[in-house]
Formats: sequence, structure tokens, C-alpha cells
Amino acid sequence: MDTPALALGPLLHEGKAKRLYATADPQRCAVEFKDVATASNGRRQARLPGKGGLNCRISARLFTLLEQAGLPTHFQGLLGDGWMLVRTLRMIPLEVVLRNRAAGSLLRQLPTVAGQRLEPPLLDLYFKDDALGDPFLSEARLAVLNIITPQARVQLETMARQVNSALHQALGKLDLDLVDLKLEFGWDASGQLRLADELSPDNCRLWDRRQSPDSPGRSLDKDRFRQGLGGLVAAYKEVDHRIQTLGLQPQPHDPGQGLL
Ligand code: ADP
Ligand code: UDP
Repeated sequence: MDTPALALGPLLHEGKAKRLYATADPQRCAVEFKDVATASNGRRQARLPGKGGLNCRISARLFTLLEQAGLPTHFQGLLGDGWMLVRTLRMIPLEVVLRNRAAGSLLRQLPTVAGQRLEPPLLDLYFKDDALGDPFLSEARLAVLNIITPQARVQLETMARQVNSALHQALGKLDLDLVDLKLEFGWDASGQLRLADELSPDNCRLWDRRQSPDSPGRSLDKDRFRQGLGGLVAAYKEVDHRIQTLGLQPQPHDPGQGLL
């Protein structure tokens, strides 16, 4: 993968799928998307060349779509293949999962049928903590954690539903059925709530409406890795290809912003 045209500061965080680096501006950091797929909370891993660049491009376009719809994100520009510039946020340690259809863990936890429509979309909160296995949060458990005020929670859930609805609609036009997705949020330096992390087939389920429901080719997301179906990079390329047709132009990083 290319290195970005930007002076990188220290590595701030190495996660399972991305690395975050400081830049000369404390309010902005550079994100490198790794060519790695993980499942089972990182216990299974594989190197998949091309995956990082695809997730970065897909995320950049979808963040751009949301910004154009008036939804604030951390996206600040593309830096090169597999790299983007984002606003440094104070992250809220929650995984916000929106489900438009039943799939994945929900099938193991509630008597639901795969693909069952959930209207209104189901919103589940999980505590983002690898060591604890990202546990599901009840109302009472969220109160014990004391990580978000009731008002901020309403703001976060409202924005999460708006993000889901904008993406569900836009992807639907491309015959991509947004089954579920995981979102993360954080606060910027001025106290604005923003969508963070990534928007890629790593953190959502996308079913291809051009394939029959029982076809193994229907999943165009990380389930291909979780279920050992193979063809993950080809599936992500198909998603990238369809999203390109929306004609969104994510801004490249402007070196005039003083970070070079
Ligand atoms: P994980 O840490 O879950 O293994 P990643 O490999 O995707 O996940 O690492 C990216 C990390 O960066 C995550 O912990 C995520 O919460 C965090 N993050 C994402 N966007 C921002 C941001 N704008 N500012 C600060 N941290 C961020
Ligand atoms: N998800 C994610 N990171 C996680 C857990 C879930 O991105 O740590 C996404 C997952 O890709 C899916 C949605 O959140 O799109 C719902 O996941 P689910 O609860 O079904 O868990 P899974 O069975 O995928 O582990």
C-alpha cells in the first residue's frame, strides 16, 4: 500500500483493521486501512491484499454521501490508497448496531428468521471492549457504565437512525440490501457529535438483490470470511464498483491545509 503524502506522527492506536497516526495537527489523524480480515474478536485472521484500499474508498464515498445529507462525520479527505485523514475524536466506547433485517447474532439470541424485516429498524448498543467481548448493553447496564448522558444518547440514537436510513436508501438503489451495520461515534474539539470509524462491508451486511436468496454469492460483506465462503476481495470490489456509480467525489486531502 502507498504511504500517504503527509508527515505522520506517532502511531496512536493499532486495532484489528486499522492504524491511527497522529499528524502535525492534534485535531486530525491519519487512518491506515489494513489488508487484514479478522473474525471472532480477532482470534481468526487472514491477509487479503487489496482489502484495505477498498474499505478506505468505500468508506470515503459513504462518508461523503452522509456529509452531503447534512450528517456530520469525521472524514477530512483521502490521503492515498488505503489512507484517509479524519478529525481526531473523543470516542464513545459504544458499538451502535442497526438492524433492518434479522441476521448474525440476532438469530442466535431471539426467535427470528434469517432475513426477517425489522421495522422500525432494531437499534442495539454494545460496550466496545475487546477484553470483555463487546457485551450487549441493557438500559440498566448502560447507566452503570456512565459513559453517555441521557440527552447525548438520544442525539446519538437519532443520528444513528438517520445514517442507517440514508445508507439503506442509497445502497438499495444499487441493489445492495443493507441488512445491518455497526456504527461508532465521537465528540470533536468543539463538542459536535460525529460519525467515526469506517463504513465498509467489514462492518455491515450487504445482500446482493441481483442474486437469489439461497445463493452463496448473495453476501457481499465480511460474512464471506466469517463463513469461509471465499471471494471476499471480489465481493468488496463489486460493492466499490456499484457505489462508484453514485458519482460521489470524496475530497482528496488539500496539502494547502498545512499538514505536509
Ligand atoms: P478495533 O480497535 O475495534 O480493533 P480498528 O482496527 O478499526 O478497530 O481500529 C480503529 C480504532 O480507531 C477503533 O478503536 C476506533 O474506535 C478508533 N477511531 C475511529 N475513528 C476515530 C477518530 N476519528 N478519532 C479517534 N479514534 C477513532
Ligand atoms: N459488527 C461489527 N463489529 C463488531 C460486531 C458487529 O462491525 O464487533 C457488525 C457486523 O458486521 C454486522 C452488525 O454489526 O454488520 C451486526 O453484527 P452481529 O451482532 O450480527 O454480530 P456477528 O454475528 O456479526 O458477530
